[in-house]
Amino acid sequence: MSVFDYQKDAEGIVTVTMDMTGPVNAMNDEFGTAMAETMDRLEKESDLRGVIIASAKKTFFAGGDLNMLLAVEPGQEGAFFESVEQSKALLRRLEKLPVPVVAAINGAALGGGFELALACNRRIGWDDRSVEIGLPEVTLGLLPGGGGVVRMVYLLGFQAALPFLLEGKKVRGAKAVEAGLIHETVSDVSELLPRAKEWILQAGGDEAIQPWDRKGHKIPGGDIWNPKVGQAVMVSPHMLKANTRGLLPAPEKILETAVGALATGFDAALTQESRNLAYLVTTPQAKNMITTFFFQLNKVNGGASRPDGYAPTKIGKLGVIGAGMMGQGIAYVAAKAGIETVLKDISLEAAEKGKDYSTKLLDKAISRGRSTEEKKRQLLERITPTDNDDDLAGCDLVIEAVFENPELKARIVKAAEGKLADGGIWGSNTSTLPITGLAGSSAAPDRFIGIHFFSPVDKMPLVELIRGEETSEETLAKAFDFVRQIGKTPIVVNDSLGFYTSRTFGAQPTEAAQMVAEGIDPLRIDNLGKHIGMPVGPLTVNDEVSLKLGVEIKESQLAAELIKPEDETRPEGWALQKALVHDHNRGGRYHGDGGYYDYEDGKKTIWPGLNALYFRPEVNDAISDEDIKARLLFAGVIEALKCLEENVVTTVADANIGSIMGIGAPPWTGGYIQFVNTYGLEAFIERCDELADRYGERFRSPGIVKAKRANSEVFA
Ligand code: NAD
Repeated sequence: MSVFDYQKDAEGIVTVTMDMTGPVNAMNDEFGTAMAETMDRLEKESDLRGVIIASAKKTFFAGGDLNMLLAVEPGQEGAFFESVEQSKALLRRLEKLPVPVVAAINGAALGGGFELALACNRRIGWDDRSVEIGLPEVTLGLLPGGGGVVRMVYLLGFQAALPFLLEGKKVRGAKAVEAGLIHETVSDVSELLPRAKEWILQAGGDEAIQPWDRKGHKIPGGDIWNPKVGQAVMVSPHMLKANTRGLLPAPEKILETAVGALATGFDAALTQESRNLAYLVTTPQAKNMITTFFFQLNKVNGGASRPDGYAPTKIGKLGVIGAGMMGQGIAYVAAKAGIETVLKDISLEAAEKGKDYSTKLLDKAISRGRSTEEKKRQLLERITPTDNDDDLAGCDLVIEAVFENPELKARIVKAAEGKLADGGIWGSNTSTLPITGLAGSSAAPDRFIGIHFFSPVDKMPLVELIRGEETSEETLAKAFDFVRQIGKTPIVVNDSLGFYTSRTFGAQPTEAAQMVAEGIDPLRIDNLGKHIGMPVGPLTVNDEVSLKLGVEIKESQLAAELIKPEDETRPEGWALQKALVHDHNRGGRYHGDGGYYDYEDGKKTIWPGLNALYFRPEVNDAISDEDIKARLLFAGVIEALKCLEENVVTTVADANIGSIMGIGAPPWTGGYIQFVNTYGLEAFIERCDELADRYGERFRSPGIVKAKRANSEVFA
C-alpha cells in the first residue's frame, strides 16, 4: 500500500493524502517513490478534472529529511545533486499537469512542505496558529532546494522574496495571504477540501498553468535588466557580507541562486539551485546548525535533562516577588501563557509599575497588528499587583527577583515560602549567588531551585535551571515543566559560581581586556570580534552589560573567598577592568563617563585614555588577526568545555544550546562544544597548545577533549 492515499471522486477530482511512515511527511526516498507512482497514475488519468494534495498528519509536510541531509559527506555531492534533481522533476511534473492542482494546507508547511505547495496552482491554508508557512532552510545552513528559491523569485519578485529566503521569515493566516505566499484561508480545517474542490470546479484553463509557465510571464518588479532590480542585485551581496562577515555560506548561495533566477530562465535556475544545495549540505556550518538548532534543540525541549518518572505538571498560580526589570518580564511571559500571576513589590505602586510593563508591551504588539485589545484585557486580568504576601497564598511556584542581596533574599524566603500551595516550589532568579547557599534559608531546600531568566525576558528564549545540592528531582521536573509551559527552552545545570552561562560569558570580555592591557589596539579587537560572528565586539558588550556590575560581582566573590586572587588567569585584564571602574570612573555605557568607549552626542569613540595608557604598537604589530580572533573564540569555548568537564553543565546539547541562546556564541559554530567537533579534536588540541605557548596556560586544551580524542569520539 502506498503512503499516499489516492481517491478519485465522481467529478474527476483526485485527492492525494500524504501519510508517510513516522510522525511527519518529509522529502526522502519514501516520498520519491510515492510521488513518482502518484504522478504516473495522474498523468494516465483520462477524465481528470483537478488534483488536491492533502496531508493526514498534523502538519502538512515537514520538509527535507534532516537525518539524511546530515549523513551526506564531502565527496558525495554529485549523488546528492542527482537525488535533488529527481525530487524536483517530480514537482515540475505536478505543476505541469493540465488540470488545476490545489495544496490543502492543514498544518505547518515549512521548507520542503512549502516548496511542494509552491508547485501547486492554488494554496489554500487553514487560518490557525499552527499553520506556519515559510522557508527556514537558511537557519540550518541550507537553501530551499526543492524549487523554493526560484519559485519565490518568480512568484513575488527578487526584493519581496529575499526576506523569506535570507531570514527564513515565517507567516500565517492573513499575513501569508497578504505576502502572496498562499491565496486564501479557511477558518475551519473541515472547510479545506470542500473549498479546494469548489475552486477546482470553477477554475479556468489558465489557472492550471503556473504563472512562470504562462506565455509572457514577467517576474514581479522586473528581471535583472530592470534598473531597480539590477541595482538591488549589485548592492545585495555587499549588504549580506556586512551581516554575515563571510561566515555563513547559505545566505550567499541563496542570493546567488535568486540572482540566477532573474537572469537565466526557470529551468536553468532550478538546476543551479540543486547544485548550490549540494554544495551547502556538506559544509561544516550546515552540519553544525542542523545538529544544534534542530536535533539538540529538540532534545533539550523534549526533556532530555528532565528527570524521568515524574508526571507532567502545570503551574496554575505563580507568584513573582520583585517587580523590577526581571520580575515584570517574568510576570508578562507567564500571564501570556495563561498563568494567573501575583506580582509583589515593596509597595503597591511599585508592583503596579511592574504590571504597566505588560501594558506597554501589549500596546506595542497591538500597534503592529500582533495582538488585540481583547487579548490585552485577558492577559492583564491575570496579573495581580500587590504589596502583601498573603496574596501569594496557594501559589504552585514563587519566583523571587529582588535585588541581588543574599540577606534580602533570605528574608523574603522566610516571609513568603509558607504561602506556597502543597507541593509548591520556590525559584530564585539570582544571576550570581550560589543556589545551595540561598536554599539554606529555606525550610524546604529540596523544593528550592534556581530559575535564571535572561534580559529582556520577553525576548530571550533561554532559562537556566540551577540545581542546588538539595534540590529534589521532582522540583527540577516541575521547574522544567514550567519553563516549557511559558514556551521557553530550559537547560539544566549544577550549582557553581556563575552557573554555566554567566561563567562562560565572562571569559570573552576578560580575554579582550587582557589583550588591551597587553597593548593591542582596542578597536582592532572589537572589529575582529565581529569577524568571528559576534553582533558587536567584546569591549562593546562589556560596556553595554555594565563593566562596573561585572567588577563589583567579582570583587564581592573575592571578598567572600568564593574565588582566590591567585587563580586569576588574566591578571592584567582584570587589573585593567578594575582600573577603568575605580580609577577612571568608566563603568560602562550607563555609568559615569562611559567605558572603553566615550558615548557623546550619540557618537561612540574609543576613550583616548585607553590608548594613552595601554597601547603598545610593537605588541599590536606582532600579533596576527587570526590569533586575536582565536583568543576571543577559544576563551569562550574552553570555559564551556571546562563547565562540561566539571559537570556544571551535564549534556552537550544543553551546553551548545545554552551557549547560543544565553551567551551569544556565533550561530555558525553550532555552539561552543559543537565548534570543537567540526574544528577537529586533534586540530583543536594543537591550536590550544599554540595559543597556550604564546599567550598563557589558560589556553591549554581541557582534559575532556584529550579523553574524547583518545577514544576517537566526538562530543555528542
Ligand atoms: P531590579 O533592581 O530592576 O528590581 C528589583 C525589584 O525588587 C525592585 O522593583 C525592588 O523594589 C524589588 N524589591 C526589593 N526588595 C523587595 C522586597 N523586600 N519585597 C518585594 N520586592 C522587593 O533588579 P533586576 O534587574 O530585576 O534583578 C532582580 C534579580 O534578577 C537579581 O537577583 C538579579 O541578579 C537577577 N537577574 C538580573 C538580570 C538582569 O539582566 N538584570 C538577569 C538575570 C537575573
